[in-house]
Amino acid sequence: MLISKVKNLLRNCPVCECKKGEVLHAQSFLLAESIFLPESYDVVSCVVCGFVFADTKAKQKDYDIYYQDSSKYESGITSLGSGVTEHDHKRLEDTAKTISNFFPNKSFSILDVGSANGGLLSEMKKLNYTSLSGLDPSPACVSYMSEIGIEGVLGGLFTDNNNLYKKFDGVLLTHVLEHIYDVRVAIANVLNFLKDDGILYLEVPDSSKYKDFFISPFYFFDIEHINHFDQDSLTNLFSLFGGNILDIGQKDMPISKYGFIPAVYIVFQKNKNKANQKIKQSLVSKDSILKHIKESTVSIYSPEVDDLVISKAPVIVWGAGQATQRSLQNTPLGDTNILFFVDNDKKKQGIFLKSKEVFPPDKIKENGRAIIIICSGLHGNEIKEQIKSMDLKNKVLLVT
Ligand SMILES: [Zn+2]
Repeated sequence: MLISKVKNLLRNCPVCECKKGEVLHAQSFLLAESIFLPESYDVVSCVVCGFVFADTKAKQKDYDIYYQDSSKYESGITSLGSGVTEHDHKRLEDTAKTISNFFPNKSFSILDVGSANGGLLSEMKKLNYTSLSGLDPSPACVSYMSEIGIEGVLGGLFTDNNNLYKKFDGVLLTHVLEHIYDVRVAIANVLNFLKDDGILYLEVPDSSKYKDFFISPFYFFDIEHINHFDQDSLTNLFSLFGGNILDIGQKDMPISKYGFIPAVYIVFQKNKNKANQKIKQSLVSKDSILKHIKESTVSIYSPEVDDLVISKAPVIVWGAGQATQRSLQNTPLGDTNILFFVDNDKKKQGIFLKSKEVFPPDKIKENGRAIIIICSGLHGNEIKEQIKSMDLKNKVLLVT
């Protein structure tokens, strides 16, 4: 039984700026030793508007530094944004098609903010859009975009974007706002990239549907996703700015070969009218998130992992991402006899978790008798296939 607990917030409600929130869950992480974000936060629901978010003690500048240092989006194989894998390609293709409904003019100048490697813009290009630019803080992403014929501009939502010499007909902000600490400043800055009647297409995960998409315990709470939007909170947020909501809707988004997550999008046309500033309370996401917490709590126990803690049998953990970082802290996984970690993501190789190094998967070949524990919210089944293809004889246990 959850006991309702209202507290004074470290972080004001990103939507209505209220200073009080109800604690729904306390989330902690075991972070790689090179990461300087807080190792825990409360998931809270604003007592005024109901918005659910991470009450983190970090500030926007801390997240800016984190993304500069550990831009996982540069690595195409394991991350979103580049259009490399099949499901990723499908997701970007779908998004480009949705966007094209709102931008009928193919010569519209379009800026993708937080464009990563330009995966979405490449799909827009295939739909015959001719004036495409991508804004990203990673120099590697910017130079990659120029290589594939898209104008790459170095910058971000909170930098002086002197490199941007013009205003745009359309701006895209997809799967960025859930990462942002200063949400209202971010939207003001994004609208500033637009011409006076320009159109913003914004897409984020849809927290009102988390309850229908169980992927792994506490999947939706990670160090990066610190805001949980739905149609109601986006409507509240955009009521603070002058313009009209042209459309708002829900979609399912492929995130791995086997899984989907729910997303919500809003299409907002800027104008010079005064904002109506209508904040209405909505508890839809709070209810959905409480269900996700309940389901997570029930499913977090793995008797096989408990047995490994007792037997002290040597294990190799495959996956050094968010699922592992949560599980090391919140489940018995952290008490097993871990020899080392492996991960396909080159950016994760070489880092240390619990003083054990992350290696490329080939390292497992030296340890034929250790048990492989797969800990990955999204790629568990793909990793199983990879293990098969590597002809490894180790016993395999999938925990998420
Ligand atoms: Zn609020």
